[in-house]
Amino acid sequence: MEKPIEKLTDKPVFRKLRGYAFDPSFSSTVDKRQSNEVIYKVRWEEELKPGPSGEYIEIVDYDPTTECFYEQIDLNDPYVLADNGLPLSEGDPRFHQQQVYAVVMSIIAQFEKALSRKIIWSRIVDKNMGNTEFVNQFVPKLRIYPHALRQQNAYYSPSKLALLFGYFQASEQWEGNNVPGSAIFTCLSPDIVAHEVTHAILDSLHPYLRKDTNRDMLAFHEGFADIIALLQRFTFQNVVEDQLRISRGDLMSSHNFLGDLALQFGQAISGNRRALRSFLVETLPDGSTQLVKPDPTKYRDIKDPHERGGLLVAAIFDAFVRLYRFKTFDLIRLASGGTGILEKGEIHPDLVRRLAAEARGIADKLMLTCIRALDYSPPVGLNFGDYLRALITADVEHNPEDEEGLRFALLESFRSWGIVPDDLVSYSVAQLMWKPPSANGGPKRAIEALEKAFKYIFDTESAHLGVMEHMEKILRSNTREEIFMLSGFLSARVHDMLMGKFAINESQLERSLGMCFDDINYSFQDETFKVPIKLKAHRRPVFQVYKCRPLIRYNSRDGYAYKILIITFLQKVYIDLRKSPYEEFFNESASSRRGADQKPKYMFDFRGGATLILDLSDFKIKYIIMKDITSSARLQKHLKYALDRDSNESNSALLMQNEEPFAALHIH
Ligand SMILES: [Zn+2]
Repeated sequence: MEKPIEKLTDKPVFRKLRGYAFDPSFSSTVDKRQSNEVIYKVRWEEELKPGPSGEYIEIVDYDPTTECFYEQIDLNDPYVLADNGLPLSEGDPRFHQQQVYAVVMSIIAQFEKALSRKIIWSRIVDKNMGNTEFVNQFVPKLRIYPHALRQQNAYYSPSKLALLFGYFQASEQWEGNNVPGSAIFTCLSPDIVAHEVTHAILDSLHPYLRKDTNRDMLAFHEGFADIIALLQRFTFQNVVEDQLRISRGDLMSSHNFLGDLALQFGQAISGNRRALRSFLVETLPDGSTQLVKPDPTKYRDIKDPHERGGLLVAAIFDAFVRLYRFKTFDLIRLASGGTGILEKGEIHPDLVRRLAAEARGIADKLMLTCIRALDYSPPVGLNFGDYLRALITADVEHNPEDEEGLRFALLESFRSWGIVPDDLVSYSVAQLMWKPPSANGGPKRAIEALEKAFKYIFDTESAHLGVMEHMEKILRSNTREEIFMLSGFLSARVHDMLMGKFAINESQLERSLGMCFDDINYSFQDETFKVPIKLKAHRRPVFQVYKCRPLIRYNSRDGYAYKILIITFLQKVYIDLRKSPYEEFFNESASSRRGADQKPKYMFDFRGGATLILDLSDFKIKYIIMKDITSSARLQKHLKYALDRDSNESNSALLMQNEEPFAALHIH
């Protein structure tokens, strides 16, 4: 009797795909050729369609210049499967699709690992009327166009929820390793692809960080995207080993790894991207390179978003180098017979392997911490100082012991680059990390009232209308659309419940969340007009709860799983600029660019709110990371920034008002 054929194995965990680790031009230097081909291990998608089109992304290879659709790759074709995907090819569009898919899915996996939750795309449709100012719409797939433009540009489009990659002829001069006149495809550069998809993911987590309300906001988007792109290069053991072999284990030598990384980072895309390099590496008169020495005055003086973004990248990589030195000192001492100075010539392959493992480990931890810090960031008005606080808090939460020395490295590097939060009493971990609201000396009664309200909404005994079931379902579900819908329901419940509480509570409960439902009076001494200013926002008791997401987190110290809830609150008020020195100015400049907006020109948008983290085991509030809507100092800074920006038309920041903010930021 014939036996039915049994499947030999379960379905694979990963799909292995060949791809470039660096820009294709990198292969043209012989000593680096081998390390440029790597195998991306992408989470297995059972339902992957040709395109590829999977759960998160859909690659649409339409080329508007030639008006044609290129043939789609089918990654489930047996020949393609058996051979780890198509071989590397600059000329085959199907390989381009494979490369983009591999990089984008790898980055998404990094974010999901760090955040312990699925990435969900959504689009904010601005209704701008009454209570429903926006509708948050689920978008199943990010669309990716590998050959969308005949331009030296690539960008993320928030309105289309798409990534658009250009291609172009390389310049006629020999520049770097590019052959003059040959076609360069931005979609083949892992740096550029990683950078663009990071913009999209960051926007899905924090849609209001795209608003250009202070000098650091756009810079943060750019810098953060570069940090993720640079760190993801340390994923591949063979690449890191090759580089460390060439540089003899030194991240700082004249032929150094980081220098090399930075120098050819987006070599093909010149212009704006050069700003990044200039903060990491400088070329000396003899042609060698060295890491740039930190200069704390730059954070105070530099205005251009790319250059400021470069400062953030430099601070993170400074921390990287400090950690690498600290963690490899013993290995170098062992290998050098105690002197700490290695002999001339190639270093031992065993040492290369160990050093590479350390470098990868550090890169991995840094990347996880950089991503997790997003959960400890305020929803609006972020500055680099806030981000440093978020980094430190994220690290304390996840690695309470700091055996690695990670947060001290971050502390030192940010200080040496002059990036410190305002009004800090002393520069220490205890001072920098966000405090629980009880330790802030805040209104105790309000916090207790809030905790009571949350207990009422979420606790099993008193919870009603399926709140508890919805929360359990979110924790169980693997379907992104279901999670999105359930989370929207929870947001609505929290909103309605608190709205009721705010209405009856005399202690102005909303104030502990950075909001205010009464008339707000602002007053400050203006620097530009040298007069005392008094401004008013009329009572507007409207707020949004735009995220409400339960999560399970693991603490590395005790190994326990914790259930927390992250809720984001936002309020917008309109500041009346009439009879103030600002009136005339904003009237004129605003009229030229706010065509569709029916709001009177003298009304200036101002937002406040908070990210709240609740411990679900006892309904205690762990953190309220807040931007106070009643803060005169913050309003003053925001107005001054808007004035500076509008008076300088060439400032690329102004382009954020456009439909395609990132297109404008990236082009040069
Ligand atoms: Zn960018």
